[in-house]
Amino acid sequence: ATTGSGFGGYANAVSAVEPEDDVSQFAEYRRLKTTMQQMQMTGVPNPYFTVHDGIVRDITVIDGKEYISFASYNYLGLSGHSRVTEAAADAVRKYGTSVSASRLVSGEKPIHRELENAIAKWVGVDASILMVGGHATNETTIGHLVGSGDLILHDSLAHNSIVQGALLSGARRRPFPHNDYEALDRMLTEMRSQYRRVLIVIEGVYSMDGDFADVPKFVEVKKKHRAMLMVDEAHSFGTMGETGHGIAEHFHMDARDVDIWMGTLSKSAASCGGYIAGSNALIELLKYTAPGFVFSVGMPPAQVAAALASLQTLADEPERVETLRKRSELFLSLCKEAGLDTGDSGGTPVVPIITGNSMVALRLSHRLKGDGINVQPILYPAVDESAARLRFFITSEHTEEQIRFTVTRTAAHLSELGFDRQVVAAGR
Ligand code: PMP
Repeated sequence: ATTGSGFGGYANAVSAVEPEDDVSQFAEYRRLKTTMQQMQMTGVPNPYFTVHDGIVRDITVIDGKEYISFASYNYLGLSGHSRVTEAAADAVRKYGTSVSASRLVSGEKPIHRELENAIAKWVGVDASILMVGGHATNETTIGHLVGSGDLILHDSLAHNSIVQGALLSGARRRPFPHNDYEALDRMLTEMRSQYRRVLIVIEGVYSMDGDFADVPKFVEVKKKHRAMLMVDEAHSFGTMGETGHGIAEHFHMDARDVDIWMGTLSKSAASCGGYIAGSNALIELLKYTAPGFVFSVGMPPAQVAAALASLQTLADEPERVETLRKRSELFLSLCKEAGLDTGDSGGTPVVPIITGNSMVALRLSHRLKGDGINVQPILYPAVDESAARLRFFITSEHTEEQIRFTVTRTAAHLSELGFDRQVVAAGR
């Protein structure tokens, strides 16, 4: 930069940064292109943005061919259930395809309140609020409830939406080791006194590993340090607990011991959007002040009605949850028998098969596709290279035969690809 006097000199000094105005030249875009070229060089087709026809339950249709699907969140098969479809269609006929305004002004419909009451009851707390996206729910809620002078402590494997919310908030953010409530306790002992509000964020079921937090232990820690606890139930709502009420039911705990319950409606509830459930004060504050709610359109009628019908169906057909659990346990035990590395997955519908190498994961998913099985590889940098994996989402619609066939084919391909469980585990 040149020096000078007056405004001219100042302007020169701050203009030393090279301007960038062409996205195709951004370093991020070039990195993306390099990664895609590397993937292309393996000869395996791009596994992303595959077009699926029809409704994905146990089966999906790609290019007119049927595949057993392990890549969708339709955990309870409710997307495509006639009662849910009819409810959504009725709501569109009655209320249109959009509510055309923020609910605060003129977008409020009776079914919004009906669903919010049903969710609060399902979770076991006072009240709930709906938001149009699951990701946006975490971002706007976390971003809004804490700020500078506050502290957010989140699990090291927390979902991107939690991290984005923490960044937006301006609070200090520190991850704690995965599921380690003792490490969290030590951090709070050291740091609590320096901050006004402390928000701890964990998940009911972790979507990459299929393990879950010991929530009652986290409740003890949060009470000891007068912190707030938020639990993201994206993958535990509808899937955990004897009747699908979530991780609180699993632990037979009082849901009111958690300050903020968050969930997505895009998975078990066969819809789209998210919710926050908790005390009347929390929900009232969010309804009048959370930017992602106040300045955003209300949830569309079809989505609200679908989620409401899903909850009603689940209440009437709790055996869906039991079937899901049986299928998930079968998948896991067969993997273990076959010597596959399933990490810490434990009785949830998310089961990773860790290959410890992105290229092996990519080739394995491609080979399985040849067998009529669709499953998504999770590659570096989404996870560490040594933790590259295929991630299987089980649904209550899968048959035992589909599961047995899938595990047998996976084990056979992995042994041909030179997979050695001991070597993979040692690398992690
Ligand atoms: N939280 C977690 C733990 C998730 O896994 C996801 C998405 N899979 C979200 C939030 C965001 O939810 P949605 O996809 O419904 O926006």
